[in-house]
Amino acid sequence: MSNNNVECLECGADVRVPNNVMQGEILKCGDCGIELEVTELNPLTIDLAPMEMEDWGE
Ligand SMILES: [Zn+2]
Repeated sequence: MSNNNVECLECGADVRVPNNVMQGEILKCGDCGIELEVTELNPLTIDLAPMEMEDWGE
């Protein structure tokens, strides 16, 4: 029982969460590549990570 899994918010794939994950950590979905941020540890909650690297050129 060393790993938790969460469901990718984008594609629904299982994303492995490290046992020592910290709040605010970014997880990357191996299936679709989207980044997910750990927003809560108890219960384990994820949200889409803000994509700050993208320049939308508004
Ligand atoms: Zn995914």
